[in-house]
Amino acid sequence: MKRINFCAGPAILPPSVYKQAAEAVVDYKGLGLSLLEISHRTDWFDEIIHGARGLVADMMQLNDDYDVLFLTGGASSQFALVPFNLLPTNGTACYIDTGRWSDKAVKEAKLFGNVKVVASSAKEGYKHIPKNFELGTDCTYLHLTTNNTVSGTQMHQLPEVQAPIVADMSSDIFSKPMDGKDYGLIYAGAQKNVGAAGTTLVVIRKDLLGKVQRAIPTMLDYRTHIKHLSLFNTPPVFPIYCCYLTLQWVQAQGLETIAANNKAKADLIYNEIDRNGLFTGYTALADRSLMNATFVCTNPDLESTFLQTLEEAGCIGLKGHRSMGGFRASMYNAMDIAGVQVLVDVMQEFERKLG
Ligand SMILES: *Cc1c(COP(=O)(O)O)cnc(C)c1O
Repeated sequence: MKRINFCAGPAILPPSVYKQAAEAVVDYKGLGLSLLEISHRTDWFDEIIHGARGLVADMMQLNDDYDVLFLTGGASSQFALVPFNLLPTNGTACYIDTGRWSDKAVKEAKLFGNVKVVASSAKEGYKHIPKNFELGTDCTYLHLTTNNTVSGTQMHQLPEVQAPIVADMSSDIFSKPMDGKDYGLIYAGAQKNVGAAGTTLVVIRKDLLGKVQRAIPTMLDYRTHIKHLSLFNTPPVFPIYCCYLTLQWVQAQGLETIAANNKAKADLIYNEIDRNGLFTGYTALADRSLMNATFVCTNPDLESTFLQTLEEAGCIGLKGHRSMGGFRASMYNAMDIAGVQVLVDVMQEFERKLG
């Protein structure tokens, strides 16, 4: 059975990536070696990691002020590593609380210094992105989540602030053209738009480092990984290779094309959610995510039947986050419009059957 994967993460990747990754596991580039046994201290792996770092720098238009790292521990470790490395004990970090992931980031930051949550939509079920807030003068950095994977909102415009912006871009990185220089630090778990689970992309403006007094364990200090070109210890070789392949695919498509496709896919699903009387969108229209579309059944009694209908049609991973219920269609870069059309067809067929 052909299945279409609408899961929020790990997520769908381009078919060419699956194929090349599979071939590399059996025999990497005809070397008579599997990629899985190749030392990270070889020219072979150098080409992969520096190739991947170069593609990130290129697509984010970075300059030498920035460094690109592939770390481990997921985006969730970055919730702590960011304040550990950037926030002085007597400093204040500002956070915009737009969802479950931002909230987790806030909790970790509180371990290291003062945290000011400058805006939050928690009380409204994270249905929108708050836009009016004051940072104050003593803000070391402003942390925000560009796409809220759970509730399905996205920040379509970056706030204009003086403080360096730290962005969790796990679920919308490389979904549209971007200028990395607008940010002080960017992090993203790979398993949504960048590649396979097991590595985390971190982009850092280097002048933000070295301003805290506390001792930082070697492996948790960004400077260690910058100094050793992301090769201080054994990196996750295979996930990084999957990132390299995916980044090559992204670059070949071009971010403009990717953005246009993402817009077309989102329009297709949201038009159906708004047209079809059986469904209601969850979030505020202006803040709808192009990556994760969340919706509920107007009649909640129909949800389990609809979920079953989806699964019979091969559409999987659509059950809403356990904290939310309802449905979530994740449509990352590698999802093609034909996949979303199948989902829309299922929604229309469901309406006909019940109508
Ligand atoms: C998935 C996700 C995370 C968590 O990533 P892990 O790599 O599993 O730690 C954090 N933030 C956002 C916005 C996400 O979508």
